[in-house]
Amino acid sequence: MSDPVPSKTLPVGKTALTRALLGLEGESAIALGQALQDVVRSIRVHLGMDVAFISEFTGGRRVFRQIDAGLVAVPIEAGGGGPLEESYCQRIVDGRLPQLIHNAQELPAALELAATRAVPVGAHLSVPICFSDGSVYGTLCCFSLTANYSLNERDLGMMKVLADFTAHRLEQDASRQHDTEAIRERIERVLETRDYNIVYQPIIHVPEHRIIGYEALTRFSPEPYRTPDVWFHEAALAGLQAELEIAVIARALEAMPLLPGNTYMSLNVSPATLMRSGIAEVLERGPLNRLVLEITEHESIIDYEAFARALTPLRQHGLALAVDDAGAGYASFRHILRLKPDIIKLDISLTQGIDQDPARRALAVALIQFAAETGSKIVAEGVEKLSELEVLRQLKVNKAQGYLLGRPAPASRLQTSLQ
Ligand code: C2E
Ligand code: CA
Ligand code: CA
Repeated sequence: MSDPVPSKTLPVGKTALTRALLGLEGESAIALGQALQDVVRSIRVHLGMDVAFISEFTGGRRVFRQIDAGLVAVPIEAGGGGPLEESYCQRIVDGRLPQLIHNAQELPAALELAATRAVPVGAHLSVPICFSDGSVYGTLCCFSLTANYSLNERDLGMMKVLADFTAHRLEQDASRQHDTEAIRERIERVLETRDYNIVYQPIIHVPEHRIIGYEALTRFSPEPYRTPDVWFHEAALAGLQAELEIAVIARALEAMPLLPGNTYMSLNVSPATLMRSGIAEVLERGPLNRLVLEITEHESIIDYEAFARALTPLRQHGLALAVDDAGAGYASFRHILRLKPDIIKLDISLTQGIDQDPARRALAVALIQFAAETGSKIVAEGVEKLSELEVLRQLKVNKAQGYLLGRPAPASRLQTSLQ
């Protein structure tokens, strides 16, 4: 007999692999499994039944997912199951058996099923777990080995609420899997097509009125447009951050011959990427004595010793280190102290409005003093107004970057002089 109920199963196969690769398998699958396990347990305990379970209808079979059996030994196990047609579940979903059964031993329609005598089944409650499109995932069931005439419609109502909750959690999980898969595919595609370009924004020595370096910033071409920080964040979610960062660094370095010989190139890179093999080889194309690495503390560097060890050979060959976004809340003083950077980049949130706001100015002064005492140089980012530049000049910040001084531009239209 064919299955009259449309059944919907959660995506498997590639999705499961993707989730494992993304490191989400553990976290979200365990959380979902635990939540559903709690559902079956609370039903069993609350209704005083012997067994409660969630079943899934898949491929013409009824498969047990979460089971809670207290101390009773039952002949069912998670992952096991049998033909849908031989189950209470199917017959309840299509109306051949009632959702509330006080004593299956007294019901001829229930006695048609071998399990009724074999288990034996006494009281039985079962409700379908339906997705928002109306398709049936499976059922939420509980039964006891003896009859129970005190069960009523209110008990069934509670089961329905919990079945809705279960359906909601399963749908949420499926949609999260779908999103993560889309992100991963997007990043893999951009890595394959190399559909991005690099723009270079000048960094200025203000008193000497000259360009001393360029920050390489990535522009991704795929539509809809997303800012580079979103792309790199998504790459991190997909476990592909290092791949993407290394790929764009390799691309950025291709323009080194086009940069004036007395300037450096500043590259954005996350601490995790710097710990990966392969990065040194790319950076060595530099040359290293014309490179600055800008590091942000969005994700904290766990092992500063290992990090320093990985960088020491490169720093010995002239590679400089910058702490990016200082003052933005990410780059803590501890982080700066441990990294011993050559450069501290004052975050845009401190620079913008520094001419108006004493608090911003005070924080900038603290960082400037800190830099002076620890032997780092300051570069102020995001300078848009002459009045901001003037305050920075008074505070003896000589190096700056921002739309006022130069916009990011492709290497073919590199800004090489100042007005
Ligand atoms: P960031 O490293 O702090 O880069 C500075 C951002 O400020 C850039 O945004 C730049 O275009 C923008 N900017 C420069 N001057 C001004 C100004 O005067 N006013 C304003 N409002 N903004 C200014 P962009 O290029 O959109 O990059 C955003 C963030 O994305 C970067 O912040 C960086 O964290 C990340 N990012 C960009 N390219 C790369 C890359 O190649 N690798 C990595 N790992 N991250 C990148
Ligand atoms: Ca930066
Ligand atoms: Ca920055």
